[in-house]
Amino acid sequence: MKDIYLDCNATTSVLPAAVAAASAAMAHGYGNPSSTHGTGLQAKAMMDGVRLLARRLLGSGEGRLMFNSGATEGIQTAVLSALCALRERRDAGQRIGSLLLYGATEHKAVPESLAHWNRLLGLNLTLRALPVDTDGRHDLAVLAELIGDAAMLCTMAANNETGVISDLSAIARLLEERGAHAYWMVDCVQALGKLQLNLAATRIDYAPFSGHKLYAPKGIGMLYVRDGAPFTPLMMGGGQETGWRSGTENMAGIAALGAVLAALDDGRTFRSPAELAQWRARLAASLEAALPGIVFNVPFALSLPTTLNFSVPGVSSKELLDLFDAAGVRVSSGSACSAAKALPSYVLEAMQVPAWRASSAIRLSFGPLTDEATILAACARIERCGEALRASCLLPSALAPLAPLSAMRDGVTALGVDGRTTWLLTDAASASCVIIDPQAALVPRLAAFVRCQGYAVRAIGHTAPAPDQGAARLALREALDALDIEQLDAFDAQGRLAFGAGLRRIDCGDTQVYLLGNSFAFTGALDAHVVAALLSPDLVTPDTVLCGSRDDGGICATVRAALAPQVTPALQLEAGGLAAWLRAHPDAIVVDVREAYEQAACTGLGFDGATVQRVPLSRLAGEVAGWLREPQRALVFFCRSGNRSARAAACLRRLGHGAAWQLNGGMAMAASAPRPLSMAA
Ligand code: PLP
Repeated sequence: MKDIYLDCNATTSVLPAAVAAASAAMAHGYGNPSSTHGTGLQAKAMMDGVRLLARRLLGSGEGRLMFNSGATEGIQTAVLSALCALRERRDAGQRIGSLLLYGATEHKAVPESLAHWNRLLGLNLTLRALPVDTDGRHDLAVLAELIGDAAMLCTMAANNETGVISDLSAIARLLEERGAHAYWMVDCVQALGKLQLNLAATRIDYAPFSGHKLYAPKGIGMLYVRDGAPFTPLMMGGGQETGWRSGTENMAGIAALGAVLAALDDGRTFRSPAELAQWRARLAASLEAALPGIVFNVPFALSLPTTLNFSVPGVSSKELLDLFDAAGVRVSSGSACSAAKALPSYVLEAMQVPAWRASSAIRLSFGPLTDEATILAACARIERCGEALRASCLLPSALAPLAPLSAMRDGVTALGVDGRTTWLLTDAASASCVIIDPQAALVPRLAAFVRCQGYAVRAIGHTAPAPDQGAARLALREALDALDIEQLDAFDAQGRLAFGAGLRRIDCGDTQVYLLGNSFAFTGALDAHVVAALLSPDLVTPDTVLCGSRDDGGICATVRAALAPQVTPALQLEAGGLAAWLRAHPDAIVVDVREAYEQAACTGLGFDGATVQRVPLSRLAGEVAGWLREPQRALVFFCRSGNRSARAAACLRRLGHGAAWQLNGGMAMAASAPRPLSMAA
């Protein structure tokens, strides 16, 4: 399965002509452009040619155009230049304004650079984020209020997360009308090759560019400085780039950038905006078909045709990312994910989109080189992802689920949110389930899951008084309108309920522990060793699996391990050696701990004949007892990136399994290993 790379706003592949140009520059045109001999002169001629072309394409007029390492450096240089000039003007007694204004959705390089140089230069101006409207465009009314007091203004041409195109003409008009003196930097990184630029015809003072966002390699960029705008070099030394940026030039990068600019100039290599808009429409149609309820976070009319930013109700960005990745579609999360919590995107927050959308956003970005076949293949895979998600009963908005993937299985499933775990116990024979410690955030998901699987809910248990005073329980009952209320929580006087192997509620001080037969104990916030000591031997065995309500990464314990904790080092397998290792361990069990929807979205994957079990991490607790019965039989866990498999392996090792391994780096490393795993069609 070939990767479909749809994360071009992060970086792009390198144009083959650019690879060839860089390679030629290294192999043949390797001269130092400052040398005065023939080899140096040839290198200089190449560099001058690229600069000339860049100047024409960007309309840089009499302004400076220097090569550098990329946009972060360009932003530093622009900020340093403006702030040095401001300090000089202030020292000379001139009024400079008190604000360093920057768009609230700027790339972090902008506010961080402003804060850094403001502090270092002792300017002590006030950094102020310029708000954007709900479409992501700068709030011109606020700009009009503040611009009179602004010493510098930083805006971007197009946003990297959302693709929103700024109204630079309106900003320029406003600066003109107000006679503003602020220096103006426009981050043009996402605009290159996608928007028409004619820099010298504008009032823009500084415009940084980055090669790797448009098919040139990483480490090459450009900075435009308007003729007459103040300039202070960031790097001093040998006086290269007419003294504007010292250091021997990155000639391979410049040659590659030259090839990209030549492709832009020829008008044939890159797709037209109209074609790109058509492809966005196709992708959007497939996304809408696959993910009912999807919300696009910015209006298409105001954004680059190559960027789609969306959220799906009830599905986190981590889940969507895992799902797309399993299908070989590389997209990125619009929000930063920490271990337990998805942090919202500051860009979407600035646009005041609802919190759930800001923390579950996905960015899909293609580039002007993406071809139609790739878009069509992506659409097909996206639709398959939708089927996988619906079949796993995890799409609250799906009205007509397909045949459930995990239909009618006995099981114990952990659903984690914000560091806490809700347990879902299912019993196939009676088509019923029990929910322990429901959390409000999970209600739509639980309701969809139960409805989609056709379960009857027999009990909604709480191991401790519900922190939400029962709001989640109430919401769940409301969401599950078919729930048979009479049958709910029908525990007898001994705390017993006929469910599966028998459910029993036991008082352990402030905590209610739920026992499922003697196989599982749901122990709430109690520490495993406390539970092990609390429960009498006629209720549990050494092998009883203990499932807590705190999602601390440990997944589960057993009574035996809780009484005699194991400290065993993690066992790591490197992808490159996996095939040979599997041949040497023919009875090993390879366990795919990715969730069911990822497994379904991923076309057949072989492990050189090894036995593969599919046990999503959320269902691991339900399976550990079986593996612990063969503690020396090798178990190899794998997932997408190695995080979940590391947790699974660590859990089994802690529980006393002597041969639990994990595949380091996950599928990503396995696919790129020198001897990759066999992939069946
Ligand atoms: N500005 C924007 C809008 C970007 O998207 C990026 C890259 O993510 C940067 C600046 C930084 O660019 P570079 O990677 O060239 O330093």
